[in-house]
Amino acid sequence: MDYPGNLFAIAAPSGAGKSSLVKALLERDSDLMLSISHTTRAPRGQELDGREYHFIDPSTFRTMIAAEQFVEWAEVHGNLYGTSKAAIADRITLGHDVVLEIDWQGALQIKRLFPNAVLIFILPTSWDELEKRLQRRGEDGDEVIARRMANAREEVSQVRHFDFVIINALFDAALADLIAIVHAQRLRYAAVRRRRPAVFAALDL
Ligand code: 5GP
Repeated sequence: MDYPGNLFAIAAPSGAGKSSLVKALLERDSDLMLSISHTTRAPRGQELDGREYHFIDPSTFRTMIAAEQFVEWAEVHGNLYGTSKAAIADRITLGHDVVLEIDWQGALQIKRLFPNAVLIFILPTSWDELEKRLQRRGEDGDEVIARRMANAREEVSQVRHFDFVIINALFDAALADLIAIVHAQRLRYAAVRRRRPAVFAALDL
């Protein structure tokens, strides 16, 4: 599929700071849009349907799979998550850049379908640090934290398939890295040519 916008798929083990980094990135960059996924998990805390996720039941999710409404989907931590075609198609064909906050399985599916997609992985500095962050978050009990830590090892083992890696030691430095990756992608030849046709025409290119 040919499209003028950039796709950024960002993965990380839970607790690595992915959501906070993506939120800060979106606040600073009005040309970036977040793809809102569908999930079968229940809303947490202040989450709103249609804002963080489209919250749907498993049978609706299965119906959407059968109707080929997802560009990718995966089971994560026992729940189903998916990116709908509707969440990204209009945006990238209109030339907007879209951020996908998804797991490694989804990111690899996106790369297969959209080879120009940029895969970014966010790493913690150590397993200890990751566990401390999950505990500090105070959202989960010991059992859930243990499950998240086991899942984190699986997630991190896939980092070699990603284009870029950000080590989240200091939030501001990690955010600067993320902004730099997005900026560099927009300076690729094909992207500049697409966005600035008048300059190319003026230079007889
Ligand atoms: P959470 O339940 O903590 O919001 O998300 C759990 C995991 O599912 C995170 O790694 C998140 O990035 C991932 N996830 C969220 N939406 C999608 C999606 O549409 N597709 C895939 N493959 N993973 C997703």
